[in-house]
Amino acid sequence: MENVIILGTGCAGLTAAIYTARANLNPLVLEGSQPGGQLTTTSEVENFPGFPEGVDGFMLMDSVRKQAQRFGTRFESDLIESVELSGDVKILKSKNKTYETKSLIVATGASPRLLGIPGEKEMFGGKGVTTCATCDGAFYRNMDVVVIGGGDSACEEALFLTRFCSKVTLIHRREELRASKIMAERTLKNEKIEPCWNSVPEEVLADEDGKCRGIRVKNTQTGETSEIACKGVFIAIGHIPNTAFLGESIPTDELGYLVPETNSQVRTGTPGVYVAGDCADHVYRQAITAAGMGCQAAIEVERWLAEQ
Ligand code: NAP
Repeated sequence: MENVIILGTGCAGLTAAIYTARANLNPLVLEGSQPGGQLTTTSEVENFPGFPEGVDGFMLMDSVRKQAQRFGTRFESDLIESVELSGDVKILKSKNKTYETKSLIVATGASPRLLGIPGEKEMFGGKGVTTCATCDGAFYRNMDVVVIGGGDSACEEALFLTRFCSKVTLIHRREELRASKIMAERTLKNEKIEPCWNSVPEEVLADEDGKCRGIRVKNTQTGETSEIACKGVFIAIGHIPNTAFLGESIPTDELGYLVPETNSQVRTGTPGVYVAGDCADHVYRQAITAAGMGCQAAIEVERWLAEQ
């Protein structure tokens, strides 16, 4: 029987691990399919306090993991598929193992949203469609690429890709960016980035080898379609919370984000069960806010276990 199991190793999960480990709760952290979470797919993080020159996302998460380990956090790699949370003992089941714990912190984050258009799945990964410029940008040296989206992620991806690519077309379905002012300004000022406004992608086009040769987009104002030649399509249209495995055990909103109790960011209606980070936050979605929620959840766990 564990005192506390933490699901997820992003900013929220690892911060919860540091706090619960320092409280001598001997936490077990289950690491899912993206160890370190979304920051490991980011290049420079400029807005995490304490790093005036910015910090590499992967390095930051590696340091936080080591910090959690230093106080005795245990890590296992496993994907929970179903849960039973109503009893005093919370039961978590993966494919091959059942875990029992007195308390639980769900910090499973969110995964990149996809477009669902023809060609996307077929060319995902090595053939030209990706959701991670940091991971794949260098493969597109001196090539033309497109980025889809109008938020901070799309701007960040586009700016990062200008280091390698000859031209980056930023395809957005509206006429103005949703991104923060500083990111939008930087993006639109960059000579290598060309915006393609009011356009929705319809199909990723393949060459004779099955690799990306371009993308067909439709102009939402005129209804006209056109093709943009490119070797890479970088999708940055937001995220989907990783909460499906919880079934109906924790309430969610219509988008699948976990909804905590009123008057708390992290406490759920089920005693001993807490949420933290992007799986429960569609408003702020920052590394620092996720870390803050991880801290809150850990303190709640500590107090709740002490009461029991
Ligand atoms: P986001 O802010 O939700 O933006 C998603 C973008 O994708 C929007 O422009 C949206 O269009 C577009 N979109 C959504 N579904 C689409 C579809 N099916 N087809 C075409 N376009 C679609 O997501 P995000 O950029 O990933 O950012 C998430 C959060 O992380 C935000 O809070 C952001 O500030 C933060 N973040 C911060 C930084 C930074 O500070 N450096 C970097 C990355 C992310 P509409 O605009 O029309 O809705």
